[in-house]
Amino acid sequence: MVEPKTSAEICAILALCSKYLVEVVPQGGNTGLVGGQTPNNTGQQIILSLRRLTQVREIDPISNTMTLEAGVTLHEAQEFAHSVERYFPLSMASEGSCTIGGNLATNAGGVHVLAYGPARDLTLGVEVALADGRLLTTLSKLRKDNTGYDLTRLFIGSEGTLGVITAATLKLFPQPRTQEIAFLGLESPTQALHLLNFIKAGAGIALQAFELIPSIALKLVLTHIPNTREPLAESHPWYALIEIASNAENEPHSLLTHLLSSAITQRFAQDAIIATSLAQARALWSLRENISEAQKREGGSIKHDISVPIDCIPAFIDQAGQLIQENFPQARPVPFGHMGDGNLHYNISQPVGADKAQFLSQWAQMNQIIHKLTQDFGGSISAEHGIGQLKRHLLTQVKDPVALDIMRNLKTMLDPLGILNPGKVI
Ligand SMILES: Cc1cc2nc3c(=O)[nH]c(=O)nc-3n(C[C@H](O)[C@H](O)[C@H](O)COP(=O)(O)OP(=O)(O)OC[C@H]3O[C@@H](n4cnc5c(N)ncnc54)[C@H](O)[C@@H]3O)c2cc1C
Repeated sequence: MVEPKTSAEICAILALCSKYLVEVVPQGGNTGLVGGQTPNNTGQQIILSLRRLTQVREIDPISNTMTLEAGVTLHEAQEFAHSVERYFPLSMASEGSCTIGGNLATNAGGVHVLAYGPARDLTLGVEVALADGRLLTTLSKLRKDNTGYDLTRLFIGSEGTLGVITAATLKLFPQPRTQEIAFLGLESPTQALHLLNFIKAGAGIALQAFELIPSIALKLVLTHIPNTREPLAESHPWYALIEIASNAENEPHSLLTHLLSSAITQRFAQDAIIATSLAQARALWSLRENISEAQKREGGSIKHDISVPIDCIPAFIDQAGQLIQENFPQARPVPFGHMGDGNLHYNISQPVGADKAQFLSQWAQMNQIIHKLTQDFGGSISAEHGIGQLKRHLLTQVKDPVALDIMRNLKTMLDPLGILNPGKVI
């Protein structure tokens, strides 16, 4: 592993790697979920760690931008924004460890995509060390710049295969003065869809997050995660966690109270609570954020990170459930996630008491079924985690051939010797 401290050192390393044909695997916080940051087992690749690139180059609360180096963690980036009374909305459970470079390289999503978009929408410019050792910069605080091709966006989501991101200029937003969290009991995903549209229509851009949780997920969290408790008086088949934020002092609370009581009256929800303290808000979020961990403690879990058009979510959940039941009786689907973005983590827990290894050996088979259904709905097999090495073999099956051809040409142009993260994405 090499751990440079500056962009210039990274350029020098890449120039040497090009000269001696050494393969390089960029790595930030090592929280990626598709194996993009992991070297192969030849022992011949080097890990290029970005974690020592931690400089804050500039924070400009007037232009609402900050320029940070790639190794700054997402949590630190949020704190830097906070220190000038601004808001950086990218947020996910891994934010204590994942880095800005990794967030951009994976075009990370997280819980606020509904209101602010993924990493790509939050970035104004990047600095990138190229395979041949040159340093490209599109760092800029400009909101408008129509001078040719959008190279910034090309590198975002490229998972370390086209260049090494060394710094980025990110967008800042006004800091919400109040944030309100609600937890709702629902009878079905169809009701969740009606509720989502109702809240969207009433709250507009104040709606920051809308997360869907099935009852099995809540049960697993309550069973395996200490200090958690049932949030509503009664159990429901489905739940939604909603976050609303605003710059006005008391507006979100009255807005949310009004919307939730109307939602219950109009049968868009069965029951609801609003967090009355920060501790309660955190406790509600932790029910959502601990689902994967609870599944892990329950045994084997086969994962999918899919997206479909939002209106298809109820039909998708229904049909996927039927297919799993037909092909893997007793397996337990746990579909949860960012419903507001059409993004479900369609994870399937092993049957109670089953052999974990035997269950996990069905990974490819299950993936095939769920990914085929995803495509039938016009969806994507990777909504926010990327392709890495885990889904590389699937890309040729799902991507437009012309798009793939252009991707390969871009790769050849920017990395003709194939030293940057080989075996990942394409
Ligand atoms: C508990 C948990 C929750 C998560 N929740 C979410 C979520 O809600 N939404 C979401 O999108 N993801 C989520 N993730 C996945 C992961 O946190 C994100 O993909 C994150 O953006 C990865 O950042 P990282 O710094 O850890 O990158 P790494 O894991 O180190 O690397 C990821 C990829 O980016 C490349 N890379 C890293 N840094 C650079 C760089 N500077 N230049 C070029 N390439 C680079 C690597 O080669 C690799 O391909 C979650 C992960 C965990 C463990």
